[in-house]
Amino acid sequence: MRTLLAALAVTTMLIGPSQAAGIYPLDRATILAGSPFDFKAEFAGTVKPEDVRVTVNGQDYKGVFGKDVEFVASEKGKDDKDLGSAVLLRGLTLSVPGSYKVEVSAGGQSRSVTWDVFGTAATPKAKNIIFLLGDGLTVANRTGARIMSKGMTEGKANGRLAMDDLDHMAFIGTSSTDAIATDSANTMSAYMTGHKTAVNALGVYADRTPASLDDPRVETIAEALRRTGKKSIGVVSTAEIEDATPAAVVSHTRKRADKAEIVGMFYDVKPEIILGGGSAYFLPKSTTGSKRKDDKDYIQLFKDAGYTLATDKDSLAAASGTNTGKILGLFHTGNMDVALDRNLLKKGTVGKFPNQPGLVDMTKTALDQLSKNPEGFFLMVEAASIDKMSHAQDGERSLYETIEFDKAVGAAREFAKTHPDTLIVVTGDHTHSMSVIGTIDDSKPGTDMREKVGIYAEAGFTNYEDKDGDGYPDKIDPSKRLAVVYGNYPDHYETFSPKLDGPYEPAIQNEKKEYVANPAYKDVPGAVFVQGNIPRNNDSTAHAVDDIVLQATGPGAEGFKGYLEESDVYRVLADAFALGASGAQKAQMQ
Ligand SMILES: [Zn+2]
Repeated sequence: MRTLLAALAVTTMLIGPSQAAGIYPLDRATILAGSPFDFKAEFAGTVKPEDVRVTVNGQDYKGVFGKDVEFVASEKGKDDKDLGSAVLLRGLTLSVPGSYKVEVSAGGQSRSVTWDVFGTAATPKAKNIIFLLGDGLTVANRTGARIMSKGMTEGKANGRLAMDDLDHMAFIGTSSTDAIATDSANTMSAYMTGHKTAVNALGVYADRTPASLDDPRVETIAEALRRTGKKSIGVVSTAEIEDATPAAVVSHTRKRADKAEIVGMFYDVKPEIILGGGSAYFLPKSTTGSKRKDDKDYIQLFKDAGYTLATDKDSLAAASGTNTGKILGLFHTGNMDVALDRNLLKKGTVGKFPNQPGLVDMTKTALDQLSKNPEGFFLMVEAASIDKMSHAQDGERSLYETIEFDKAVGAAREFAKTHPDTLIVVTGDHTHSMSVIGTIDDSKPGTDMREKVGIYAEAGFTNYEDKDGDGYPDKIDPSKRLAVVYGNYPDHYETFSPKLDGPYEPAIQNEKKEYVANPAYKDVPGAVFVQGNIPRNNDSTAHAVDDIVLQATGPGAEGFKGYLEESDVYRVLADAFALGASGAQKAQMQ
């Protein structure tokens, strides 16, 4: 009985008389000292402005926040529905590190959150950071890429990946504020802002109003760098440059699909180096192929701002020679083709965009240009299609992308040899349910492909060859190859063989808007039908909730250890650059 009463007392304490709908930043938010963010409190139903009370560590908020909150009598939801009152304060900064308990009450509702405002080292540990992100980089990607690229003899790898020799490591939790599961928006946003957020959100907390561009903002690393110093910024991706991961370096929106607006956000921040796909969102709607709904010509705007434009491998090489320091490289209207298609098979859209640079070309050009700034730089490099090919259950393409990613890591390590003041971080944003389970051996008798899967001792070893020594297997379909499987999927046909005609499309939509097995693979010899195990409105494999492995080397890398939340990673980056030092200094000066 006593226990029950105690439990009830605790519950009442937590919820209070009646809970306000939400306070942003959320409870347990970690906030870089001196970094601007928006404060918002939402009430359930309408309240009177004179009843609103906001305290910070028990005192009236104005003394700490230094500004008055704006009162919103009633926020509107879908179909003009009243959502309730709110208070909002944009661009708040807290310069003094410490614990801030913020309590908000009005009309019988109350709620509190506690924020951890953190400072950083007073002086930078690193001059440069190269943040290499393998989208969806699962442990199986590392294992598979190592075997495919280097081979294995008697159980020992015949060589090491560039990412195998980074000396610090951590397990990273990837969950979002609204689910244990996650997407590339909220995950990368946590890395780039230090704040976890909701699925599909970038650089904002997801509030209750439907508009995607008005949500409470937090500062991105690019903005922090612009605010605190003169470092250069580079964003490189094999995806559309407006895709969630590269967008997270600069963007603020509840909806990662706001790609036209995200281009504008790139323009606001103007990273010196922008290389990737996605030109369709840079072109005015009057241009064929444009995906904009307005007449803004961002290619012209960037050119007017001093950028050299590159549109293929050759013009990128030419731009590298110009030393303008600013390059906008857009090599595809959408996502760039994957390395397997670009290098070997010439499938996908390679016919249409035959001269795309690879991730390594882009990384080297970015490093060459950015390192001309004596103040240093932050470079984000994303291998986007490790994830995109895993979504399609195209294990071979995902692994081949991982090899390319690893070569970009190699380029970063090569750079760090002559620039030891460089912190290199190699990680993924979330995992996939990918596993390497053994081999597939075509030499086994019969036509039943399932019986050619070798597990345990039957797996033996693969026979990929790399005669030209470029690190990529010369053939993706040797007679004994990796068996790669996924743990969740739509209905599909398992063919047990690499897709030589272009990326795998396991499921297609039927009249009922459900995804069903793509009949194109039905008659592949030995193919078997696999019943899906996720809801039928999903076209592809979903992300896994499993931890990501992060590896790092260079000054500041010692901060990566044990288990960290993605938002904690920002803290290590901010510390390496001493981004909280100027905030603290500012506080002293005031
Ligand atoms: Zn994904």
